[in-house]
Amino acid sequence: MFDNSEPTKTSLSELGEFGLIDHLTKNFSPKHASTIKAIGDDAAVLDFKDKQTLVSTDMLVEGVHFDLAYMPLKHLGYKAVMVNASDIYAMNGKATHITVSIAPSNRFPVEALEELYAGIQLAADLYNIDVVGGDTTSSTSGLFISISVFGEAEKEDVVYRSGAQANDLLVVTGDLGAAYMGLQVLEREKQVFKANPNAQPDLDQYTYLIERQLKPEARKDIPPLLKGLGVKPTSMIDISDGLSSEVIHLCKNSKTGVNLYEEKVPLDPAVISVCEEFELDSTMIALSGGEDYELLFTIAQSDFDKIKGNPNLTVIGHMTEESAGMHLITRANQAIPLVARGWNSMKSED
Ligand code: ADP
Ligand code: MG
Repeated sequence: MFDNSEPTKTSLSELGEFGLIDHLTKNFSPKHASTIKAIGDDAAVLDFKDKQTLVSTDMLVEGVHFDLAYMPLKHLGYKAVMVNASDIYAMNGKATHITVSIAPSNRFPVEALEELYAGIQLAADLYNIDVVGGDTTSSTSGLFISISVFGEAEKEDVVYRSGAQANDLLVVTGDLGAAYMGLQVLEREKQVFKANPNAQPDLDQYTYLIERQLKPEARKDIPPLLKGLGVKPTSMIDISDGLSSEVIHLCKNSKTGVNLYEEKVPLDPAVISVCEEFELDSTMIALSGGEDYELLFTIAQSDFDKIKGNPNLTVIGHMTEESAGMHLITRANQAIPLVARGWNSMKSED
């Protein structure tokens, strides 16, 4: 796809490491007063004053986390920022700064990395994040991207995974399973294309699913929404691996059990219809498909009236005593043990 032998492309060696860094980062200018020094020295300098500092890192590896056969590099850059920012929102904080480290193999021309950085910049602008540094090296095979994200929160606003109590309500934002089904559609098209490179895919009916896979949006809006409603979650996590595994994380960290109601799990109609087409169980997809980047949290029952009716928020269950265990209550009103089958395990079983 990216071929250095193409005469119109610029090979990485033409710019050299420092030329490349300058070229890729020349458009970044800081937006936050907390950015004292951004790119250009040995380290960035940030000043969060009396706020608490939140830090998280995620790494994306070609062939493991993304496939450039259907993932445009601009989308990849965007998604890499979302994956990271989501972890800060899951602490009920505001993502403010990232560092971006890349290791491309020499099959990537400068133009490919420009695309990647266009996506990073778009995400940074839309999510009000400063790019304050990174590292640039090479790889012998494939592309590696590691992003670290920094954020801030008032001490009293930070929400951990560990604060849920029995009888708290379990709440999820948005809807689930769409990103995983988008991936299934893209994988299928890739196989069709391999068999017949002239085939013209008609993906119109899958737009929402493919967008959720290729251009996920982290829930930057949720911490201020909850603050405005006067609700502080008792525990929170972002949904990167599938609902069931994240629910189990909250339970284990908080030492509670849970009843999760199958009928309450929010599914977009497009997920329901594509699951029928693929002969997959949509609940299973919502529970085990990954990469939704929605937020999952618990609130005290007394806060229910404050969130009731909000179209962004769905109550899907409640926490119980740890000894009661973790259960999925099916539509047939049967309690079955909740097990974690993240999307990685789903993949390896294909
Ligand atoms: P050092 O040798 O001290 O690690 P570098 O030459 O790697 O410094 O980096 C110079 C500056 O450019 C630093 O501010 C660094 O954070 C930034 N930088 C390097 N690579 C990237 C990148 N891929 N994206 C953004 N900033 C980068
Ligand atoms: Mg360096």
